[in-house]
Amino acid sequence: SRGRAAASFAARVTFEDVSRRYGDIYALRDFNLDIAPGEVVCLLGPSGCGKTTLLRITSGIEKPSAGRLLINDREVAGPDRFEPPERRNVGLMFQDFALFPHLTILDNVAFGLRALPREEAHREAMAILARVGLERYASSYPHILSGGQQQRVALARAIVPRPSVMLMDEPFSGLDVQLRETMQEETLALLRETRSTSIIVTHHPEEAMRLGDRIAVMRAGRVVQVGKAEDMYSRPSELFIARMFSEINEVPQTVTGGEIASPIGRIPALGMSDGTKATLCIRQRGIELRSAGEGLAGRILHVRFLGDIILVEIGVSGFDVPLHARLPAGNGSWHKGAEVGVSIDPEGVLVFPSNGSNNGT
Ligand code: ATP
Repeated sequence: SRGRAAASFAARVTFEDVSRRYGDIYALRDFNLDIAPGEVVCLLGPSGCGKTTLLRITSGIEKPSAGRLLINDREVAGPDRFEPPERRNVGLMFQDFALFPHLTILDNVAFGLRALPREEAHREAMAILARVGLERYASSYPHILSGGQQQRVALARAIVPRPSVMLMDEPFSGLDVQLRETMQEETLALLRETRSTSIIVTHHPEEAMRLGDRIAVMRAGRVVQVGKAEDMYSRPSELFIARMFSEINEVPQTVTGGEIASPIGRIPALGMSDGTKATLCIRQRGIELRSAGEGLAGRILHVRFLGDIILVEIGVSGFDVPLHARLPAGNGSWHKGAEVGVSIDPEGVLVFPSNGSNNGT
């Protein structure tokens, strides 16, 4: 062994109309996604939207009720075929790491290689332990390790068989914030080295943006939007996605004459009929404060110091609801009661129907 995980044969992963039903509940419903070899995709979505079920189907723990899963264009699950987990070369890492308490760290990692002769398995396990910086714990037991170290062992165990496809179910949620960033970067580096095609489930949009080549946002068993982090931020297809990727103000409006007449001008509400309730979204970072007399008239209602950012709540003339602005700290001193001018960046303004999907633009 060369002391690192050798490149695996990166695989394309394709979900074609995959559904999974439990009684009346669809955990997945016509789920479609095509993942390129070596790509890292983050799955993001509310609790119960089917993320774990998708991983279970990909690994082979679960069968789809309908649809097909292809790995490198070969059907591994579908109406005509089912390949068991051990034949798929898919690695799985759980949220709680699921280390075996009664096995040494080395044996925990070598567990993924139990098809190999013991000595060879140990040699490879040792090499990957060195790669994650835990050689000296080889003969220790998991309980003496810190959370971050346990996470590294779990990662080593999942990656040592060089899976073509790596599945991770909220792999960082048990770690504190600082450790989380370090582990995210280390994990990503290891995934790139092994060229594993990866699906990472997360609840955190920021984590998805940091890790994913693409992000797939799910709701009720389906993909609602898939794209790069920039796409999700700039062109969210629905209000709930806009909320995930940016801090926004939500201003209730009504569509009249195909547009919204707001204090910042008329904004087209394409495809939305008159009388429809719409939500005008204004990014909190898209609001700037100036001297009174410039822009819209405003009065500061509240100021909160958040470190790099100052969160200012402003009553703005023409708006029924107060707006929140996130201003870089040091950019002026703002205090409660002050009269200010408010300018709103049109780039930071989006319109959505108040319930359901966007206006189709
Ligand atoms: P979370 O983020 O909370 O982990 P999730 O997105 O991973 O949620 P799943 O665990 O995939 O969601 O579950 C999707 C839906 O399917 C849920 O409504 C869940 O209750 C249901 N479900 C999952 N597994 C089963 C099962 N074995 N039997 C019955 N219902 C199930």
